Order: sequence, then structure tokens, then C-alpha cells
Amino acid sequence: MATIYYDRDANPELIRRRRVAVIGYGSQGHAQAQNLRDRGVDVVIGIRPGASADRARADGFPTYAPAEAAAMADVVVMLIPDERQPAVFREEIAPHLTAGKALAFSHGFNIHFGQIRPPAGVDVFMVAPKAPGHLLRRFVREGRSVPGLLAVAQDATGEAKQLALSYAWGIGCTGAGVIETTFQEETETDLFGEQAVLCGGVTELVKAGFETLVEAGYQPEIAYFECLNELKLIVDLMYEGGLARMRYSISDTAEYGDLTRGPRIIDAGVRQRMKEILAEIQTGAFAREWILENQAGRPVMNARRAQEARHPIEEVGRRLRAMMDWLPRDEEAVEEASER
Ligand code: NDP
Ligand code: MG
Ligand code: MG
Repeated sequence: MATIYYDRDANPELIRRRRVAVIGYGSQGHAQAQNLRDRGVDVVIGIRPGASADRARADGFPTYAPAEAAAMADVVVMLIPDERQPAVFREEIAPHLTAGKALAFSHGFNIHFGQIRPPAGVDVFMVAPKAPGHLLRRFVREGRSVPGLLAVAQDATGEAKQLALSYAWGIGCTGAGVIETTFQEETETDLFGEQAVLCGGVTELVKAGFETLVEAGYQPEIAYFECLNELKLIVDLMYEGGLARMRYSISDTAEYGDLTRGPRIIDAGVRQRMKEILAEIQTGAFAREWILENQAGRPVMNARRAQEARHPIEEVGRRLRAMMDWLPRDEEAVEEASER
């Protein structure tokens, strides 16, 4: 069973005694910074000039270049995109990480795969909220809490875990509970989940179903509804009450088809390839590929993105979503931004 920590396990004074530099003011940056400030923590933002810097200043934060912020802080939280972190860390953060400071993350990739190598004298921990930034901010402002993961990669002071717990309290995760993990477990399971199930698995499953129906002569509009649109209803039910709640809500015909046909679609071959995908993650082969892809200017990523944008399911989807006036459109982006 997992170890879970709650409010009673966290000492708020540990983080309140320190100055926190949040590097980056995007999805997680704005939410963690604002939640910390609401709980009485001294927060400065380390950010390059641009839209995020303007937003941070408009929200009333003192903003500095990342190097300056790191120099004046006791805890430095890396909340810029994972691919950009190594360069910013090397050039702007590392020189200011004197012994006794702490370096924090919300994702383990760069530490686990050795892209960031912190000096020996600093604590290194991770607190990863299990919600996108705008929801973390909204829920905590409403007095609620979001579960999170917590891990310590390096304990130089002997206090790293207590400090991590105090930080988790500060951003609003210990009310719901934080689960103890390791940088390795968080990184490998995160990559596997997004590749095999959540993103890679689901998009290919949807496209394969859509193409099968369209090739058999069915109308693309109907195929879109059956294979993509309805996915949300099913996922919402699973999110609320697991597989059982979903199966309780669908018809018996749907449930019988699910129970007897599902295993023929996701068969032993799929499970075997899931193991291969997991192995590529565990050996670091995927990480190496992604790091090189970035160094080369993302040729594969750009080509695949362009190809996917041309898929018929996207064109049909655009037309059908225009019929659903309750769907969030550009307003969604506006709402998200206004919550920052
Ligand atoms: P975003 O893409 O939302 O935010 C990026 C921020 O970094 C922006 O403010 C951007 O500013 C700034 N930035 C980019 N490049 C630089 C640079 N070179 N120097 C200074 N600032 C820079 O990131 P996320 O919040 O999504 O991700 C941050 C971390 O949180 C990652 O480790 C991610 O894995 C993790 N995480 C994210 C979750 C999420 O909900 N998105 C959930 C859990 C973990 P500008 O406007 O100038 O580009
Ligand atoms: Mg991920
Ligand atoms: Mg149906």
C-alpha cells in the first residue's frame, strides 16, 4: 500500500520560513505561486521577459530574471517546460544553488534521466499536483484540495522530506493527500501512461475505429459521434466511479459487447507491445530519442503533427462541433487565462 501524507503530517513553518523562487509562470507556475502566497509564503517569480512575466507582475508578484530569483531564494521550483529546464538550469540556476538550498520539481524527467545534475549540498524534491494548473488554483481558492505525489531525490539537509511536505501543504495538496513515490516511478509511469493509454493509445484507438467504419461505407459524421464524441461520456463515468460505474450506466447490450469484444481488440499482442514501450522508457531509449529530437529542432514531431492535422476525423470534427454551441471554444482559453 502507498504511503499517503495529509495536513497533519506537514509543518507549515518550514516553507513559511523560506523564500520560494518559482521559475516559470505558466500552468503550474501561476497556480503554485498564488496558492503559496495565499498561505503566507514569500514567493518571487523567475521569468524571462514576455507574456508570462507581464501576467506575474499584473498578479502582484515581484519578478526577476531566473538567475536573480534563484540567487535570492532558499527554494527554487523549476516550472518551465521540461525540455527547456536543462539549459536554464545550467546557465541560470546552478551557479546560485549554494549548500542548504532546495531544488524542486513537479515532474521527475530531468532528474531521473540525468539532464539536470544538482550540486551535492542541496535538497532535491518533487511535488506533483494531480491536476492541471488552472484547476489547482481554482480548487484551492474554493477551499478544496488536489491530491499530489511527493518524492525526494536528494536529502542534503536531513530535512528534505519535511520541507517537501511543507511545500505540498503550501500549494494545497496535503488536504486531499500526497502519495509518496520516487522520481523513477513518477517519471516512468507518467511516460508509460501517456504513451500507451491516455494519449498514444486512445488517439490511435479512436482513429482506427473511425477509419474502420468510414472504409466500410458509413458516414464520417456518424463514425465521429460513435468513436470520438461519446468517449467523453464514458471517460466521465469511469473518472467518477471506475469501470463499474461506467458499466452500470451503459446498456446491457453495450456491456456484453464490452466484456466479450474488448479483450479481442486489446489482445495479447497489444499487451506485448505495451511491455516493449515500457522497456524503452525504463532503459532510457525513449528519453534519449526525445532529447535528440529536441536538439535537432523536432523534425519528426513537426512532420507527424502536420500529418495528423490533415486526418479526416479532424475536418469532420470541426464541422460537427460547430453544431454544439455549448462546447467551449476560444472562450475556454480566455477563461483559463483569466484564472491565472
Ligand atoms: P507551461 O508550458 O504552462 O509554462 C511554461 C512557463 O515557463 C511559461 O511561463 C513560460 O514563459 C516559461 N518559460 C519557458 N521558457 C523559459 C525560459 N527559457 N526561461 C524562463 N521562463 C521560461 O508549463 P507547465 O506548467 O505545463 O509545466 C511546468 C512543469 O510542471 C513541468 O515540469 C511539467 O511536467 C509539470 N507539470 C505540469 C502539469 C500541468 O498541469 N501542466 C501537471 C503536473 C506537472 P513564456 O510565457 O515567456 O513562454
Ligand atoms: Mg507527462
Ligand atoms: Mg452506441
